[in-house]
Formats: sequence, C-alpha cells, structure tokens
Amino acid sequence: MKNYLQLTRHTGNTTLFLAVEMSLVSALRGIPLHMHAEGLRGTGKTTIMRSIKQILPKITRIKGCLYNCDPDNPHCPQHAKLTPDEIAEVGTEEVPVPFLEISHSAKIGTVAGTINLKKLTDPTQPEAALLPGIIPQAHRGIIFIDEINRLADTSPEITDILLDAMGTKPGRVQIEETGLPLVEVPVSASVWAASNPDEEPGPLSEIRRQLSDRFDLVIPMGRPSTPEEVVDILKTNDEAMKSDDRGLSVEEQSQLEQLKKNIEDIALQCDIDMPDYLTNFLANLYINYNIESLRALEAIRQAAILHCSLRKRNQLLISDIMAVLPLALYHRVNPATLTEIMNTVNSNRMLDDKKNGSGFKLPKFVKRNQTKHQQFVDIAPPEKARSLRDLPEGDFIKKEKEH
Ligand SMILES: [Zn+2]
Repeated sequence: MKNYLQLTRHTGNTTLFLAVEMSLVSALRGIPLHMHAEGLRGTGKTTIMRSIKQILPKITRIKGCLYNCDPDNPHCPQHAKLTPDEIAEVGTEEVPVPFLEISHSAKIGTVAGTINLKKLTDPTQPEAALLPGIIPQAHRGIIFIDEINRLADTSPEITDILLDAMGTKPGRVQIEETGLPLVEVPVSASVWAASNPDEEPGPLSEIRRQLSDRFDLVIPMGRPSTPEEVVDILKTNDEAMKSDDRGLSVEEQSQLEQLKKNIEDIALQCDIDMPDYLTNFLANLYINYNIESLRALEAIRQAAILHCSLRKRNQLLISDIMAVLPLALYHRVNPATLTEIMNTVNSNRMLDDKKNGSGFKLPKFVKRNQTKHQQFVDIAPPEKARSLRDLPEGDFIKKEKEH
C-alpha cells in the first residue's frame, strides 16, 4: 500500500487531501468535522481517506477505557463519576486517534454497543456489562463509512444512530440491550463517508436528505486532468508494488512522523476567531440565497477557521471562506445557485480590485432587477456560468494574495 505522502495529488483530489487534514486537526481539537467524498469509482477517495491512518497522532485516555475517556473530562458510564484522584489511580495511556470503519453489513450491536459476553460468561466474576460499539469507541477520532448511500438505503436503523451521533457537536449514542438499563453517552467523532452517486442506489441526498445535510462538507472528486498526472500515478503505483514487501523506509517513516507532528502542532494553536464582517457576510448569503440550513453557515465557519490554521495564519481571510464555501454548499443549494454565488462574489472582488487597487470589499448580495446587480451581470453573464463540477478549482475560487 502506498503511504500518505506517496499518493499522487492532482487537480481532482487535492481538495480531499485538504479536507482530511482539516478534519483530523478538528478531531484533535475535540470538534468533529463530518465530510463526504462523492465521486466515480477509481478516483481514489477511499485510498486517501484510509491512508490517514499512517499519520494519526496520539491521544491520552484513561487506561484501558474503550470509550477513550479524556482523563480531564471523563464521560463513559464507568469513569464519568470518578474524582481526579481516582482517575490517577486507574492511570492513563496514549493511543493513536481512533479510526474505525462501519461496513454496510454492520449490525446495530456492532455500531452502537452490545452486551459484553466475555464478562457475562466469566466463571470467576460473571457480570452484565456493555461492550461499546464502533461509534462510542471512535470517540475523539474518525468513523469511516464507504458506500454511505448503500448503508442509508439498506439500514435505516443504523442511519438513525448516525443521525444522533452527528446531530450535535458532540453528538450522542444510545446503547440498548435487553436486561440492561439504557445507556446514553456523548460522542465526538468525525464521520468520513464516501460514495459514488452514479451507482445504485443513487446520491445520498436523494436517499436520506437528513443524513446528507449532516455532513459539513461534500468533496466532489475529479479525475486527473493532465497526462503528466496520470504518468505520475502509474509511476508511484509501480514503485509502491515493488516496495510492498519491504515496508516503509527510515526516510519515509520520518517524513510521516514530521507530518504527524505538524498536524498536532496546528491542532494546539486554536485561537482564530471569525471577524464580525465575515459573519455578516455569511448572514447575508444565508438570507439572500434562501439557504435552507444554518448548519451550512456553521460548517463554513468551522472549515474556514481550519483552513486558516492549516495555512499557519492567525487571521481569518475571505480566501479561507471562499476555499470552503463550495464544499459546504455543494449538497445544500442547487448547482446554478452555487455558481451564481461564486460568480457574484468573484466579480465583485474584481470590480473592487480594479477600483481600489489591492483593496477588497465584501460583496453585497442584492436581489435581481436592482441596478447594482446589473453591474455584475455585465461581468459574469449567466449564460457563461458553468456547472460547478466542470470548473477546475483555480477557476472559481479566486484567492487574494495570502500574507
Ligand atoms: Zn471511560
């Protein structure tokens, strides 16, 4: 298997690399960032998502706690009521950020939790205890689900559990088992999903709209767009096959360690705030384009801050918002509206750049038929608008020079 750094980055997949790193930083900060990569088979979405396992930093948990209790903030049925002294007595340990997968043949017990048979049949001290499932065990980490559209289609019960776990930040999971009291635990895990909307049973947004909206970001996957990129993929595939037996070289190992350290350092620097003028900008967007869900704005805010963190800046810029806005709106507005939003923002910025030199003013979203809007139309006539899917990233996300 190729290591994370060997994977070829091309125009069709760079956004997913960015998103997985943003979500990992967010998980380390204790706030989930849910994302869904949509694309054709063979675009490498699952490979990229799974390869993050090679750069997972460590977290500290109460020793042996399957719920990954944070020693400073224990939440599981066993440790929630312990005093700091009692926790110190149990001890702590370091484990990698959890990365667990839910397959579409999974059962409710596997996903939420079930009775712990080992403890129940222990001949010396039989007791009825719970064995947490994948979701509670992924607390402070990542849950990966391939073919989420199939899961939503065939397992409505598991979808309901996911809706609960992703409904708030942190979410919650209920573990129900006959003969045991109902247990509800908070869970803060980022859900990463992948699907091919062109295959049965179709796009997630059409199967379970509510679940689709729970994803903060949707990452549309594209194919490589130049022959050079394809050559690079083939070459690294070839090298990876040859090197499969030998494992990672010392150098590769140290590169991965460095990236892991970098992600950890970025996660610790979390003092970026959204300035008021950008919050107002989002509020205007919400009202003027009738955006259905406030989750969209929360997702833009959270992702923009993460984007800014990964750029190692401490001041949030409009470019951070522009980089994540299409990902947060992709599954929430229709393509024509999204293109209109991006065109309006970009043409406004070009107007302002021309007028004021480097100065940038935020666009005012005005309704159609107003004179100001006519100005934008001259610059970006609607017939020139293309579907978002057809636009290369550099074309529709114009960024100001970063400092
Ligand atoms: Zn615990």
